[in-house]
Amino acid sequence: MLTFALAGNPNSGKTTLFNALTGSTAHVGNWPGVTVDKREGTYKKGGEPINIVDLPGIYSLSPYTPEEVIARNFVLNERPDCIINIVDATNLERNLYLTTQLMELDVPIVVALNMTDVLDKNGDRIDVRALEKRIGLPVVEISALKGMNMDLLMTRALDAVAKTRKGETVLKDSLLGSAIANAEIALKLKEVEAPLFHAVKLVEKDEIEVKTHPAEAKAVEAFIQENAGGKTLDTEAEIADARYKYITAHFSSTLTRARKPDYNELSKSNKADKVLTHKWAGIPIFLVIMFAIFHLTFSEDLLFLGSIIPSFGEWCGAEGSVAKGIFFAGGLNSPGVILFNALDLLTGQIGEWLGAGLEALGANEAIIGLVCDGIWGGVSGVLSFLPQILVLFLFFSILEDSGYMARVAFMLDRIFRRFGVSGRAFMPMIMGFGCSVPAMINTRTLADEKERTATVRVIPFFSCGAKMPILLAIAGGIVEHFGIGNADIITYSMYVLGIVVALLSLLAMRNTTMRGETSPFIMELPLYHMPGFKNLMLHLWDKAKHFIQKAFTIIVASCIVIWFLSNFGWDWRYVGEEGMDTSILASIGKLIQPIFTPLGFGSNLNSNGWVFAVAAITGLIAKEDVIATFGVLAGCIAANFAGATEEGIYEVGVLISETGITVPALISFIAFNMLTIPCFAAVAAAKGELGHGKFKWTLLFWLVTSYLVSSMVYTIGEWWWTAPIWAAVIAVAVVIIVLNNKRLDKKAALAKKLK
Ligand code: GDP
Ligand code: MG
Repeated sequence: MLTFALAGNPNSGKTTLFNALTGSTAHVGNWPGVTVDKREGTYKKGGEPINIVDLPGIYSLSPYTPEEVIARNFVLNERPDCIINIVDATNLERNLYLTTQLMELDVPIVVALNMTDVLDKNGDRIDVRALEKRIGLPVVEISALKGMNMDLLMTRALDAVAKTRKGETVLKDSLLGSAIANAEIALKLKEVEAPLFHAVKLVEKDEIEVKTHPAEAKAVEAFIQENAGGKTLDTEAEIADARYKYITAHFSSTLTRARKPDYNELSKSNKADKVLTHKWAGIPIFLVIMFAIFHLTFSEDLLFLGSIIPSFGEWCGAEGSVAKGIFFAGGLNSPGVILFNALDLLTGQIGEWLGAGLEALGANEAIIGLVCDGIWGGVSGVLSFLPQILVLFLFFSILEDSGYMARVAFMLDRIFRRFGVSGRAFMPMIMGFGCSVPAMINTRTLADEKERTATVRVIPFFSCGAKMPILLAIAGGIVEHFGIGNADIITYSMYVLGIVVALLSLLAMRNTTMRGETSPFIMELPLYHMPGFKNLMLHLWDKAKHFIQKAFTIIVASCIVIWFLSNFGWDWRYVGEEGMDTSILASIGKLIQPIFTPLGFGSNLNSNGWVFAVAAITGLIAKEDVIATFGVLAGCIAANFAGATEEGIYEVGVLISETGITVPALISFIAFNMLTIPCFAAVAAAKGELGHGKFKWTLLFWLVTSYLVSSMVYTIGEWWWTAPIWAAVIAVAVVIIVLNNKRLDKKAALAKKLK
């Protein structure tokens, strides 16, 4: 039976054509080893049945993505009798780029010029005869969607099969034409099949090609260097350029447009890409943009004006005024902080009115406490983070809608692949710095289930906005109380610790329980364009709604519970804030305290050491609760407690002197809170996003990871000589994983052979 392969760019209409040709005979499987769909079916309308294979969508035959490798291996090794190259007629030049590569193979090819119905509608026209002549391949105008010219296409393909075809290249007269010709001769001598195709790839220094023909690769390289006068050429870029130039010079004129295309827009986009996706500068530029976004969202010292001009804060406004409170804190506040402050002011006011109102109504202390601290405290606590989260999302949406994020994901794809995830995982991770909930939902763009599970699990390690107060307060407390280190450096290192643990966990999971191929990352790069305002607002509204719906209900409910537990004793008597030590919460804290001893903040602490255990537990509800708990409990412990400060630094100081907790234990405490089970809302999101049966293992993963990392931080910090012990344990684990994977690979290979 003859086999025809459908090859073309993503979205060129391959699958539509495939369905039109094969009807109900189609079946979908996977290409071996990867989760890329493989569609096969039979065309029966032309006498002899013909086997049709829908290749993955590709832009080129280079070996960079699994799709490209699959398509390339298929056309080279399985040698279809004919390639039907689908070309989107509305995007002629870009689609013909692949055609110029396919025609280098010694396989019969028919060009199926698809979407001609769209072309007609636009009033554009392609001179098919001229295109056919110039390209040297049969061209058939079709509309896969309307089923137009399907049978004609197959007839022309059968005609093509009847003749043998030698590969042709459009690169003959280019700068590297002679190098290609030489390489082709060398490969022909070795009786390599499809010598022209391989010759071009050799000149491109294609990874796979250089490996299979190392001697020829060296000779070609020497030849090129000699001809280029000793310079090393980027031959890959040179060849891509030559292809496009040829296409523009010879094929573009076959298209007459009713309306002139916006070439201006295209060239602007290309110019922007020269800088923004530059080989080396691309990622640093991205980091700067990211920093600017975080700066605009979280900074209380915009453009570092306050640090540069020390008196800036003073001449900005009167101390204690509302305006100063909202707009200035040492320096100028960022838009995110301004909104945060404004909302905080408003919710604070509402809280006061609520309290006053209830008092006027003659409500008792417990009711006022429940409504003001428990319920309203919870509601406003959540609300207060909404502005910054929305500001962050606004920036992200702008980057996404403009087409930039797609490019960043591409740039990072190669690095991410080493850790077993594709570049697609990047967006959710970045979002994790804002809030884990939307970040986890965003993992839906990851096609592979195991990859997605692994990504969902590490998202909480990208320390979210609600964890920031923990970092800031404890770092401040350490600096103030012990007089060592720099709060900035401690905070920054903790962020880095989170990222490192995330990447290492990914690596570990993808080599053990979540083993599998990393899903391919292919995606059309859109032109840059101005994001639409309406679209942006829709995005924001969507995020806001989600945040409010999911997080709100859970946090509010949990705040009520926490309030009850910390204000009532086991005998159901109201004890109030002063009686905290006899509350249900305190007794639970004392009970669980020993668990945290290996982490440095358990039973080894002096009196009232249980507050750290309690804070870690309340953090499970909302990470803001950790510092809130400190505030409340420090008040009960220190008789001379002078009232809460905003940052919670003072509270941490009180707790340090009271409990005798050490610096390594404090760092371990931050690490634990950062890495352990995230807040209720994030846990609910994870439950929703994870596949069946994965949820309970995820909870365990968080517990184990945080416990291990924190105890490692604590023990090494406290007794440096434990470091080699930890190193040895890790080394043994790595060896076991590697050996086990070797065994599994061998087993899989054997199973394949037996098949
Ligand atoms: P693939 O990625 O190459 O498999 O492309 P698909 O077959 O999924 O098609 C991409 C989109 O183009 C779909 O929305 C199709 O409905 C549409 N499409 C495919 N062929 C035609 C065509 O001939 N005319 C029009 N107007 N749309 C088409
Ligand atoms: Mg498809």
